[in-house]
Amino acid sequence: MGGGAMMNQSFIRPTAVTDIATVYDKADSEHWRRKYFDALKSLEQEERTFRSMESVLRRLVVRLCVAATGQSPPLDAAATRLSVAVRDKLVEAELEAQFQTLSDAIAGLDQYRVATSGAVTVAPPVAVAQSETAESPLCDNTIRATLSRLLGVVRQDAELAALVGEVEQQIAMPLPLPQLPMVLSDVADLMTRRVSSVEREKREIEGLLAQITSRLDELTEYLLGEDAERKSSFQTSQEFNTRLVSDIHELGNSVEASVDLLQVKQKVRTRLDALSGQVHEYREREEVRAKSNWERSEKMRERVESLESETRNLQERLQNEQRLAMIDALTQIPNRQCYDRRLEEEFKRWQRFGQPTCIATWDIDLFKKINDAYGHRAGDKVLRVVAETLAGRIRKTDFLARYGGEEFVMILAGTSTQDAYRVAEQMRESVARLGFHFRGVPVSVSVSCGITAFCEGDSADDAFDRADKALYVAKAEGRNRCVVG
Ligand code: GH3
Ligand code: MG
Ligand code: MG
Repeated sequence: MGGGAMMNQSFIRPTAVTDIATVYDKADSEHWRRKYFDALKSLEQEERTFRSMESVLRRLVVRLCVAATGQSPPLDAAATRLSVAVRDKLVEAELEAQFQTLSDAIAGLDQYRVATSGAVTVAPPVAVAQSETAESPLCDNTIRATLSRLLGVVRQDAELAALVGEVEQQIAMPLPLPQLPMVLSDVADLMTRRVSSVEREKREIEGLLAQITSRLDELTEYLLGEDAERKSSFQTSQEFNTRLVSDIHELGNSVEASVDLLQVKQKVRTRLDALSGQVHEYREREEVRAKSNWERSEKMRERVESLESETRNLQERLQNEQRLAMIDALTQIPNRQCYDRRLEEEFKRWQRFGQPTCIATWDIDLFKKINDAYGHRAGDKVLRVVAETLAGRIRKTDFLARYGGEEFVMILAGTSTQDAYRVAEQMRESVARLGFHFRGVPVSVSVSCGITAFCEGDSADDAFDRADKALYVAKAEGRNRCVVG
């Protein structure tokens, strides 16, 4: 039956939802589910009873028609037509017409008997043999008992009780056979009405269940969505659930207390309206909460973004400062600090790979005199140009730094002492050829250089000291020269 499947769906779905398990008490929902199943089952049972009663009634009519055969030709003809009509399950209106013909034939029975008395031998009808009277044959007790049983079922319908009472009164007393078709017609009519009312009730219950199903589905759908969205507000949702539980219990109580279907329908509708109202109210509250959460998180996001940007700026500044901290401000080449790091790295690389690596220390000759003769600014200029000249001649793998004052240091990776000497000589010559002038007067500028290679057992500083000593030798030997130490 369609209603059964629908009811199944309506009562299983909500309990299948995890979150609603807190709203619906499982046992409670099972109780209602069983209750509605039972109600429909009993209606179906009643419907089946009526179908079988109807069949009994039809058989009864046929039997009576057979029993009445031989009373009179019109009655025989009417009885035959009625039996055929009942067997063929004609519609009510046609049956009614057949009953009318039969009643007329029974009514004319006495007249027929008088007209044919003595001339015709009438076989006593089987059905009336026991209770035949002098005036008219009486209806058999079994038939009356069957009719009474049928009426007993119809009596359950409060609307039909009064009519049932009237028919019951008729069959309580000996029933003349001619009246039987009328009584049968009344019983059939009552049964048809009862069947209709059972079907109507069934449809109403199905309608009501469909309504409840759709409303509960709506609630379920909302609560499911709500559950996915709900991240916090645990207390609010607990309170909301408690209220829903209590309302659903109340819904159950009021349905239980209701006496008829109409009342049940009204109460269910009212309660479901209240539940929907609560859900909507809750949703609105949650929306406000979600909005404020979203705004807060938006602000937080903006703050994080600005912090990230600040951090980026700081990092850039720091890197820049670090870079600046490694560069000599006057000559724009790496400074002493940068040299110390590089020396460390190159020394380790040399230790690892063993490639020849040299250090060259440089010092501008008699620089003090330049300062003294032409001023510090002229001295600075000389420092910048010498640095530029040395830097312009080194290879990419070489390294040049201003060590301090008018002193420079060079690291030549992958270079033998001889090669380093050759390169240093070229550099020295380049500086010597720079051709400084001061107010048109040539100013001689030269540099001296001490060179050494990393040697077995050296520390990085040992090599530097050795190069520095070679530089002193160069100075001592007359300046403007390179000496390998
Ligand atoms: P030597 O050939 O023996 O090296 O003689 P020198 O005069 O170059 O050596 P000394 O150490 O006597 O003098 C170095 C001078 O370099 C002294 C100092 O004032 C000058 N000096 C150091 N740093 C700077 C600088 O940044 N700018 C200028 N203009 N002079 C500087
Ligand atoms: Mg010096
Ligand atoms: Mg000097």
